[in-house]
Amino acid sequence: MSNRRKPIETGLTSSVVYPSGLFSLEKDEVYPYERFAYNVLDVGVHGLHVRDLPESITIDFTRLLPGCSPWSINASASVEWAPDGQPLSYHISTPEFTPSMLYMFSAVVTAQLFDDEACDVFRDDPESLGRRIQHFVDGASAGVRAYRDKGIAHAIRAGYETLGLRILDMQNCADDFDMLSKQIAYHEVGHAYIKQFMRDREWTPLQCRAYELMADLVGTEWLYNGMVRNTPDSDEYREFRGLDTYADTIFANAIMSMRAQQANLILAAIAGAQRKQGQLSLAGGETHPPGLQRYQLQHIHLYTLIASNFSKVLSKGQLSAIERDWGDKMDILVRSGVLPLDDLEDSLDLSHCDTINVAADLIVEQNVPELQKVAPFLRETRKHLAHVLQSRKP
Ligand SMILES: [Zn+2]
Repeated sequence: MSNRRKPIETGLTSSVVYPSGLFSLEKDEVYPYERFAYNVLDVGVHGLHVRDLPESITIDFTRLLPGCSPWSINASASVEWAPDGQPLSYHISTPEFTPSMLYMFSAVVTAQLFDDEACDVFRDDPESLGRRIQHFVDGASAGVRAYRDKGIAHAIRAGYETLGLRILDMQNCADDFDMLSKQIAYHEVGHAYIKQFMRDREWTPLQCRAYELMADLVGTEWLYNGMVRNTPDSDEYREFRGLDTYADTIFANAIMSMRAQQANLILAAIAGAQRKQGQLSLAGGETHPPGLQRYQLQHIHLYTLIASNFSKVLSKGQLSAIERDWGDKMDILVRSGVLPLDDLEDSLDLSHCDTINVAADLIVEQNVPELQKVAPFLRETRKHLAHVLQSRKP
């Protein structure tokens, strides 16, 4: 009996617009683009169908996004309208150099941070994490200079050469990159899925921020489904992973998913640095909540899904090992200064609490299937936070 996912046929039409220079490059240089596009379609095919939305997606790596350079760490979702005012198709775009930069980040920073032995360096000398991030930035900057002179293919090549990346490195960082790009791709598809695009509605900045939280949480749910819930309980899969039991595979995939969220958090701080003259930052903006608030809600949601659905599969020891691994990495992030303390304070500002309630309201209003159970949790969290923050006031 096959243990594979059941194939589904849908009417989705899709197109991917690659920068043409890509086709003169090698496998590991093209991989980030192919995989990012795959990750959009992986959830897009099913998601748009479930929500009765037009099953048409274009993934475009060549468009210049408003207010972004071709090397901004960013992605965006937009909709094309039919003359009758209904959505016709969705566009998911990233700046041209972004997927490649995410790959370099995974190869240079997270492959080491999430390697159980190599990570000791950061534990003993937290500041070395900052230097590792700087090394990644140097590679990306070499790419940016080449981009300005000669275009995207030379940018990618220059970045890889500066960082000494070889095709062999793919085996160490392909999964990290995949998990990172999944979160970004899922978030963007999530914007369509939660029905944020409505022609006759203007959203306030507060509602826009709430939609960001919702897209995050839908993305978290998909990450959990793909990485943890749908872990095959088969000898074939265990052999593939080199693990003995079903519990071991769930444990390994749970750790990978939690780490992937931490990778995304570091990346958000670097994206903040691109906007803030080089200073790592998780500050929010008018339409985006602070990075730490976003991370905390996604982390709690993922951990709750794992702990509540797999409490009988995972041993107590495994559950606490998952928590320990998380705490160990957070400790490194805080001690290294990668999580700016000012932003930690900022995310605890009472003014951000309202976003959480608005998100809960919109989840109900837009009838987002996966998140119905999350709405009461969000309201509880908001109440609890408000209570704690009030009592902190002098
Ligand atoms: Zn978004």
